Amino acid sequence: MSGSSESASTEPVAHPELFDKVVNLTKRRGFVYPSAEIYGGFRSTYDYGPIGVLLLRNVKDAWWRSMVQLREDVVGLDASILSPPQVWEASGHLANFTDPLVDCTNCNTRWRLDKLEDPEVCPNCGARGKFTEPRQFNLMFKTQAGPVEDAAAIAYLRPETAQGMFINFKNVIDTTRVRPPFGIAQVGKSFRNEITPGNFVFRTREFEQMEMEFFVPPDDAQQWYEYWCKERYQWYLDHGMPEQLLRLRPHDDDELSHYSSGTSDVEFLFPWGWDELEGIANRGNYDLTQHANHSGEKLEWYDQAANERWIPHVIEPAAGATRTAMAFLMAAYDEEEVKGETRVVLRLHHRIAPYKVAVLPLSKKVELSDPARALAQQLRGSFMTDYDETQSIGRRYRRQDELGTPYCITFDFDSLEDHAVTVRERDSMEQERIAIAEVEAYLRERMA
Ligand code: ATP
Repeated sequence: MSGSSESASTEPVAHPELFDKVVNLTKRRGFVYPSAEIYGGFRSTYDYGPIGVLLLRNVKDAWWRSMVQLREDVVGLDASILSPPQVWEASGHLANFTDPLVDCTNCNTRWRLDKLEDPEVCPNCGARGKFTEPRQFNLMFKTQAGPVEDAAAIAYLRPETAQGMFINFKNVIDTTRVRPPFGIAQVGKSFRNEITPGNFVFRTREFEQMEMEFFVPPDDAQQWYEYWCKERYQWYLDHGMPEQLLRLRPHDDDELSHYSSGTSDVEFLFPWGWDELEGIANRGNYDLTQHANHSGEKLEWYDQAANERWIPHVIEPAAGATRTAMAFLMAAYDEEEVKGETRVVLRLHHRIAPYKVAVLPLSKKVELSDPARALAQQLRGSFMTDYDETQSIGRRYRRQDELGTPYCITFDFDSLEDHAVTVRERDSMEQERIAIAEVEAYLRERMA
């Protein structure tokens, strides 16, 4: 992997040059475009192109599969993005969801104080001691719901998906058969008016999150916290992240929020160093208690067998989908020498790869393109399938390598006689001749 290499001390090393290579590839191949580019772009917002939308969807689907589909104890939710101030009053976001902002009086740039390498030095102009006193800046986007601009119309775009789960806790326990320990999971957009967005899609003002709130009996919280830390770390490994690029970092006491008795971050070695992909927090009963107090609804569990009422404690694994998609790209990017040429390949896990297979007829002639198209159409029922008949076969392989497509199928003139095709595997570039009738089963077996 070129995402990182081992140094003599076996400490993994970040590769700053990887950043531009991956960003260029994503633009060149239709993963990500700067938003409103024909108007000069818009403030660190991005659009996911035809390939990127597949990648991002695969990241979210892989998460949903592990967190909801394969589990008996987690159910899903899709809550609204617009919400009234009461929700954010109760959650503490109106008062506390702030970052410390400083202005450089020398060059008039704004910075988030807690992310500065040296809190005295402006990273833009290098001036020392020229910052204003820090002020707390609330990161929530405020808007109005409806045509009348008055206080009653104020609404916020959610800065996290989590509150949707807390405010629907009662709905879910009243309308389904879940009982603690159980979770509610959600994937969706969140919005934060970040002071310094940057590093491509790592930090943007509009992004997607994958969050799950797991409600447990109070005495079991620590045990479930440890369980979810392990489980979430393993998820990244299971989807192809190399172990040396991943670590689980417990927060120091001074990093913990006042209600959390434990938080750990899953961190990835980005080109600029270790940074967060996901936080797993033991949140106690803070959230349900706050919403119960503010709404007047009882948000608790009645354990009939023991005739006891208690407020569940919550373990929250909160991940970023857009940020994780970027990390998968960084981890998968590789270059190697093949026959005197550099081959760029994304060694993505098959579940994350945008296309699973590409069908490539050796010639554009209809005698080949017709049956090749028919095979592609058949495969589309089971796999995201690309079809490409332009340029030389070598160039078409290179293109699919850059998209991370695990298998390419070449349909040649012999195929008309032997009813077989050549299947090329992305990483090893090994080729196998497979009967056309067997192709679907062959792929299914390798991408289970
Ligand atoms: P940070 O300290 O980087 O601002 P955070 O600790 O506030 O992040 P959480 O509130 O724990 O982040 O959000 C959970 C996850 O959502 C993060 O681990 C990250 O993957 C993702 N995330 C948060 N903010 C952004 C953002 N502005 N852009 C992209 N992803 C984000």
